Amino acid sequence: MNSIEEIWQQILDIIARDITPTAYNTWFSDCKAVDISDCKLVLHTSSDFKRGIIVNRFGNTIRAALYDLFSCDFELEVLAGDELLDYTQSQGKSRSPYPEMEGYNFDNFVVGPSNKFAHAAAIAVANNPGKVYNPLFIYGNSGLGKTHLLLAIGERILRERPQFKIAYLKGDDFTNELIHSISTGTGEEFRGKYRSMDLLLMDDIQFISGKISTQEEFFHTFNSIYEAGHQIVLTADRPPREMATLDDRIRTRIEGGLMADVQPPDIETRTAIIINKAASLGLVLPKDVVDFIAESITSNIRQIEGVVKRLTAYKEIMNDSITIASVKRAIKDVIRVGNYIPTPEVIIEESARYYSLQPNELRGQRRSKNTAMARQVSMYLMRNLTNLSLVDIGNQYEGRNHSTVLASIRKVEDMIKSDPDMAATVRDISSNINSRS
Ligand code: ADP
Ligand code: MG
Repeated sequence: MNSIEEIWQQILDIIARDITPTAYNTWFSDCKAVDISDCKLVLHTSSDFKRGIIVNRFGNTIRAALYDLFSCDFELEVLAGDELLDYTQSQGKSRSPYPEMEGYNFDNFVVGPSNKFAHAAAIAVANNPGKVYNPLFIYGNSGLGKTHLLLAIGERILRERPQFKIAYLKGDDFTNELIHSISTGTGEEFRGKYRSMDLLLMDDIQFISGKISTQEEFFHTFNSIYEAGHQIVLTADRPPREMATLDDRIRTRIEGGLMADVQPPDIETRTAIIINKAASLGLVLPKDVVDFIAESITSNIRQIEGVVKRLTAYKEIMNDSITIASVKRAIKDVIRVGNYIPTPEVIIEESARYYSLQPNELRGQRRSKNTAMARQVSMYLMRNLTNLSLVDIGNQYEGRNHSTVLASIRKVEDMIKSDPDMAATVRDISSNINSRS
């Protein structure tokens, strides 16, 4: 017995012996244990009335049960309704903060046909972590609300179950931490840390595909958390079957849980998002402006937000009234940024990362097989994803001219044609690059 839930369940079992099931349900169905420390138990229930009953009618039983368990006289505090929020916030200061979660919750997530399923699944998981859909896997293109839903789950669970150990990390954070723990000989700590989580929120797991040691470690982490009955939520920019170099065991695990996709929003949802976002920035947009934005930006909510934010800035900085002309300007700015051409640095970084190398090893002269392969792939991707000339590409590397670059690119082209694994690798790296837009 160690978790607070288990302790509370034991006490509930004792209480249940003495009262009818109806009475038990009435008073305890929504009573949860929030915190236990220093001979004090904190509970939460929905109303002030229920609190009174719990304290006056059951307080002694609860304290007696705690005394039996811990040989210590316990103080009992029962929070009701909204008090939990204040309590969590006051405690939150001493707990590990999750600044990422700020601003992301279910209240400011607009639900429409495109995300209804993913939203419902996220709510179910947030209300019953570890009990319903495990793992929950949310996937879809960039800018459609995956991270928002992931963090909203975390935000709700943190608020309602402040004792939960929660980890939020991105696929590449996991890799970086793992590598760091190996190089500093702290592998055990790394393992212990993640495997003991009550809730693992891992964003953008496409970044771990292809990396063998990371996937191995992730698989074991996944199993420990899953087998302990704790919740895992994952996101990615594509379904598992399209992550060609994802470990089959991880794929199978994901497919055994619930997979929910997010699609581009329809026009009504886009309209609602624009109005909500503007309202949260203190802006009321004329209807023709709302409609114009909703019709112009169709496939990326991040871009919709970008336009609304820009309009707010125009209004503040230039005291402009918002017209269709200013909206067109804002849209042009946002779309230009959105039409993503990766830099050579990003391409080299992602190629290096995939092969577990450092960017400077790719830029340098090392000739090991792995390094040469990563370098050639990065040249191929630079040719395909940017407008750089062969000479420009050669300048990114030590001692490469346009003809060595061309030879490398040809070689990768041939390999892609003859080897499906190679084609998959290049596709994965290129998706990783694009998801950094
Ligand atoms: P993804 O992780 O899928 O790339 P995000 O979750 O980061 O996308 O969403 C991009 C931006 O759009 C965020 O600022 C998010 O708050 C907002 N957003 C996405 N979907 C919605 C929605 N349904 N309602 C309100 N805001 C949304
Ligand atoms: Mg995201």
